[in-house]
Amino acid sequence: MNRCAVLLALMLVAAPVLTQAMPASSIVGSLTVQPVSHATLALTSGETTIFVDPVGGGEAFAGLPGPDLILITDIHGDHLDPETVAAVAREGTAIVAPRSVAERLEGKGVKVLANGESIEAGGVSVEAVPMYNLTEERAQYHAKGRGNGYVVTVGGLRVYISGDTEDIPEMRALEGIDVAFVCMNLPYTMEVEKAADAVLEFKPRVVFPYHYRGQGGMSDLEKFRQIVSRDPEIDVRVLDWYPD
Ligand SMILES: [Zn+2]
Repeated sequence: MNRCAVLLALMLVAAPVLTQAMPASSIVGSLTVQPVSHATLALTSGETTIFVDPVGGGEAFAGLPGPDLILITDIHGDHLDPETVAAVAREGTAIVAPRSVAERLEGKGVKVLANGESIEAGGVSVEAVPMYNLTEERAQYHAKGRGNGYVVTVGGLRVYISGDTEDIPEMRALEGIDVAFVCMNLPYTMEVEKAADAVLEFKPRVVFPYHYRGQGGMSDLEKFRQIVSRDPEIDVRVLDWYPD
């Protein structure tokens, strides 16, 4: 085989990985929202790329630019996978996480952020906000203070990533949110009714339901959309977060 034939053969072998289907993305202003799976997403704005809760192996991010910033919300396997973090982080990638997560990512230079703290990382301003269960029988899943939701400012937009939480007062009190990612699944987080009610209160311009598969299957996103439609100024965008 000559060199061209070898190269062609390599390209043919590599092609299925490079063209692996990603769910459809969505654009808000300068921001491109790329769902990857369940709680995992990529945000790009100009030259800046943020990965949130990267899991699923490096191949799940094929075709995306390397991240300037990785945000991790919590210790559970649908949010933290040290192997995926190692696979997608490049030289200079900032990693921001709560202490509980940093302890499981030893030696990777993680910037630890507690609820209420802020930092500039990867050229993005990041604020950690609380995420936790309110319902007593769900408290075992997410104790207050262990995980972080985030508010990041990127491309002039304030973006809220709920992490795994119920409709806590800190969520309801958020102000000036342009784009929100809000979880809704049982028994781990909350009912769509609670999620919708909180969204009506903090009024993001655009809301993406995410983390919506629970023990009983997919949450009723149509019901979520219906409730939120009481405020016509809130744009509900349903994307496919479960491509498999
Ligand atoms: Zn989760």
